[in-house]
Formats: sequence, C-alpha cells, structure tokens
Amino acid sequence: SESGSTYYRVVMIGEHGVGKSTLANIFAGVHDSMDSDCDVLAEDTYERTLMVDGESATIILLDMWENKSEDEWIQDNCMQVGDAYLIVYSITDRASFEKASELRIQLRRARQMEDIPIILVGNKSDLVRCREVSVSEGRACAVVFDCKFIETSAAVQHNVRELFEGIVRQVRLRRDSK
Ligand code: GDP
Ligand code: MG
Repeated sequence: SESGSTYYRVVMIGEHGVGKSTLANIFAGVHDSMDSDCDVLAEDTYERTLMVDGESATIILLDMWENKSEDEWIQDNCMQVGDAYLIVYSITDRASFEKASELRIQLRRARQMEDIPIILVGNKSDLVRCREVSVSEGRACAVVFDCKFIETSAAVQHNVRELFEGIVRQVRLRRDSK
C-alpha cells in the first residue's frame, strides 16, 4: 500500500479440506468473543491488526483459493496478489502434501523474479492417529522450498497465532534487508 509497509496481503492456498477456512476464522477472531478487532471485508477476506515484536502489522487475509479448474481466473489472481503465502496441507492427507509442492512450483513460476515469503503449514496436528505426513518430511520439504515450516491445529488452536506472527516476520525480514 502507499501508506507504508505495515499492510500485508497474505494469501492461503492448498487442497480443499485441509483447514484453510478454519484457520482464517480463527484469525478473524470468530472464536474469541473478547476481541472484535477484525473487519470482514468480504466473505473470504479478513483484515486484522496484530502487534508483532512491538510493531503493529495489518494482515489482509485472502481465503478464496479453489482447486477447481473452472476457477482458473481466481487461481491466477491469487498467485499474483499476495505479499506472502501460506501453503496449507493436512498432515492426515498425503495427497494434500503433494499438492503443496505443486502449488509452490506454480507460485515460483508466477512470480519468478521475486523472493516471496512463504510458510508451509501442516494443519490438523491434533489428529495424531491419522497422521500420513511426518514432521520431518514437512520440515525437509520446506528446506527444498526455501520457506518456513509450521504445524498447526485449527481445531485446538495450536500454533495459529504463531503462524500469523511468523508470516509478518518473514515479510519484515525481506523488507529490512532491502
Ligand atoms: P478448506 O477447504 O481448506 O477451507 O478446509 P476447512 O477449513 O473447510 O476444513 C475442512 C474440515 O476440516 C472441516 O470439517 C474442519 O472442521 C476440519 N478441520 C480444519 N482444521 C482442522 C484441524 O486442525 N484439526 C481437525 N481435527 N479438523 C480440522
Ligand atoms: Mg475453505
């Protein structure tokens, strides 16, 4: 944005059913009645200001990604508009983990000359008995992707705040090194 570097447009991408919208709802504060800080800008767009390391940051979170081929325009748009990306898979669904790799490649192709902050997110970490992707596989994949990695559980709200703080830090790191 023109007003400075405190607005971050963060786009969630990933296979259907991995928990993107559930994570977005937690971000939006749907589950914490004490906090009405979030503006819902549209059905799938949320805005919220967080304090991260003593500095405020406003995240505009976009949750409009669909994997259907008829939504190609939305996909292309999503690949262009993000300042940062959360590539989400489910630790209970290996196909969604493989999809995450595909999406990373697609994003790299769409934004070739840019060093875009990305966090690879292994969601549903509460479902221990159904795990199909190990923590070390997730971590190794992030090394190959050259991005950060975190496992979250939207269901029990584990690491969700850390995820959104983390993406702000990733954008700042790049901004500060310019
Ligand atoms: P999306 O298609 O990526 O937006 O996925 P949704 O947010 O709609 O979630 C798909 C299903 O997974 C829903 O039934 C959610 O309640 C469930 N879900 C999402 N996150 C978690 C999680 O961390 N743990 C568990 N156990 N279920 C989850
Ligand atoms: Mg959704």
